[in-house]
Amino acid sequence: MIRLATSADLDAINAIYNHYVENSTCTYQTQPSTEAERAAWFGVHGEKHPVTVYESDGEVIGWASLSKFHGRSAYGRTVENSIYVRNETRHKGIGSALLADLIERARTLGHHTIVALISADQAASIALHRKFGFAEAGRLKEVGNKFDRWLDVIYMQLMLNGSGRMASRIEKLIERLGAGEMLLGDGAWGTQLQRLGLEFGACPEEWNVTHPDDVRGIAREYLEAGADFCLTNTFGANRFRLTRHGFASRLNEFNAAGVKLSREAAEPFDAVVAASVGPTGEFVQPEGMLSRAEMLGAFTEQIAVLKDAGADAICIETMYVPEEAALAVEAAKKAGLFCMACITFDSTPNGFRTMLGANIQDSVIALENAGADVIGSNCGNGMEQMVQVAKEMRALTKKPIMIKANAGIPELVKGKTVYNEGPGAMARWLAELKAAGVSIVGGCCGTTPEHIRRFRAEIDSFQTRAVSIDKETL
Ligand SMILES: [Zn+2]
Repeated sequence: MIRLATSADLDAINAIYNHYVENSTCTYQTQPSTEAERAAWFGVHGEKHPVTVYESDGEVIGWASLSKFHGRSAYGRTVENSIYVRNETRHKGIGSALLADLIERARTLGHHTIVALISADQAASIALHRKFGFAEAGRLKEVGNKFDRWLDVIYMQLMLNGSGRMASRIEKLIERLGAGEMLLGDGAWGTQLQRLGLEFGACPEEWNVTHPDDVRGIAREYLEAGADFCLTNTFGANRFRLTRHGFASRLNEFNAAGVKLSREAAEPFDAVVAASVGPTGEFVQPEGMLSRAEMLGAFTEQIAVLKDAGADAICIETMYVPEEAALAVEAAKKAGLFCMACITFDSTPNGFRTMLGANIQDSVIALENAGADVIGSNCGNGMEQMVQVAKEMRALTKKPIMIKANAGIPELVKGKTVYNEGPGAMARWLAELKAAGVSIVGGCCGTTPEHIRRFRAEIDSFQTRAVSIDKETL
């Protein structure tokens, strides 16, 4: 039987609570120490978040509550204005319905919130994970806490927005970004496609149709290596580049297929898919032939297809002209998508400059004015130079910064471009990037799933993060 708790239940609730505390060495939250604190904390006397008890044969064998929570979560982030959904029982097998009810109630409270769910009932937790799609779920043991004797305790965080609607994938990612977590993107696509046999000069995006398994495999390998999100094989799928390959009529097909393949790879990870948008290869007048409207039109056209196909975000990359990058950002923002935008710089005697002479300051201003949500740099440099790029950017903007370095400086070996900086050598720079204020890292040319795997391990060594429930248990 499930009913609201009364003051008379406090002893039973405390006994269960004490059992729980004694059997764990949980250190991630402040526990109430006095009876009064405990009563207030549990909300037994509160009206808004009453405690519910579970009774069997007249005995209280479990309790559950909603309580307000501010502080450090199990994932190491500071959580404001959130609600804890808590369920403690002496017996397993209680809970799914009770917790579902509590979560539904939490959703009506209207907080922009993370709900943390603690349950000793693994089966119930997994059922709820399926039902509500928690932002994060993991065994506490794996996130660095010491639940040695409570191995089946599952910790989950459920993110809701103000209206009680479940947060979208991208909202969850933005939340993590806002909480100061360093996020990991994927590695190179172009050099991976070449390894799989894409010939020099061929149209990479055609592979979305001719080699779907290879393309999906690249996204999957990066996600398996620990990337928090993946890109798409759509970098050059704008009307100007496709025209040069004779594929102008297949723009919709290539872009939609690119998103679909990454979506399929991302599905088991519930990962964000950020669609890649690269430069057109054309220039706006007076340097080139295009009007601003024509350039904007090309990005608008491509991004509309990417959005319709299910992209969560846009990642604008390898841009050499800040004005062109800004037009791409404008198109992404008009489509209502979260937009990361990266410019490519070379290290020159005059500081970092794009191939066409733009400096970091002009680039950052252009991207920020256009409304980019994340500003950064990819390609062109190895890690060492990227730390400097990041520092310069940090001084110019408050936006999150994204850095995707190449695997060192390319060398020509027997007519082939080779990138030699290994996973370990690159990963060593991540702490410095973090110190320089970088929020998102990934890899550009020459990086592989092995690089991303090492990045994951390195990042995890200086911050805790969410872990997914083992696939087998789901
Ligand atoms: Zn690159």
